[in-house]
Amino acid sequence: MAPSMTIGYLNGEFADLASLRIPVLDRGFLFGDAVYEVIPVYQGRPFRSEFHYQRLQRSLAQIHMDAVLDREHWDSLVHDLIERNGGGSMAVYLQISRGAESVRNHLIPKGLAPTVFGMTAALKSRSPEVLERGLQVITREDTRWDRCDIKSTSLLANILLYSEAHEQHAQECLLHREGQLTEGSSSSVFVVRNGRIYAPPYGPEILPGTTRDLVAELCEANGTPVRVGPIDMLELADADEIWLASATRELLPVTRVDGHAVGDGHPGPLWRAIDTRFQEYKQESAND
Ligand code: PLP
Repeated sequence: MAPSMTIGYLNGEFADLASLRIPVLDRGFLFGDAVYEVIPVYQGRPFRSEFHYQRLQRSLAQIHMDAVLDREHWDSLVHDLIERNGGGSMAVYLQISRGAESVRNHLIPKGLAPTVFGMTAALKSRSPEVLERGLQVITREDTRWDRCDIKSTSLLANILLYSEAHEQHAQECLLHREGQLTEGSSSSVFVVRNGRIYAPPYGPEILPGTTRDLVAELCEANGTPVRVGPIDMLELADADEIWLASATRELLPVTRVDGHAVGDGHPGPLWRAIDTRFQEYKQESAND
């Protein structure tokens, strides 16, 4: 970890990450009773943070937690974290757990003070090799729970699937339920066929992706709107392009699925066009 990324936030206090402590009876630690957000920061400025605060608010509401902080306070916390960690480009991580009790208790308690945690991490720039060659992915049955629309810290299935992809020398795992594509283990997915861009419908099985939403706006502006609807896994075999989207990886081309080439096996022209728009949008928002 870069020395400048060591300042964290816990319940009102900024301090060295290594010195921050939570009680062992914190429900986030015991049950994964917690939600989180990851906000990319470019040139010291949070990128589309309002959409991350909205999703955070939605995740909290879905697990029956109150707002915790309003948007202004989240904003000031995020800016403090950025400044104290040296500014520039990074990712801000925010996590809110239901808090710590004096006993381990499945029942959701009333009136518990939430645990609010924040930190920053280096934002790796996309390697020229990945942009040139694209990513390899594997496909697996989606073994996660039925509320993947909540950005919960309970990520056991996601990390097992993601790690399996890496064991297979791939960089992501595309998931499916009953033959229908859902998303990546840590990313949203788009499929391009015959010049049309498709994405699976939002619902309880999918996280509403902040990057996916931006990409959809950019596709619309490009005159190639995203068509949202179920995608059969069989359609991947004759896809011309497949893309992954996430806040920390932006928009990346997939060029191999389970060892088979996607299209001609190279990043496709539509990805290149939309990624160029993405980079321009990023630059414009940093200069705003
Ligand atoms: N889907 C899953 C399961 C994710 O974990 C993520 C990001 O971490 C995404 C989609 C993409 O969301 P976003 O673009 O907001 O990062």
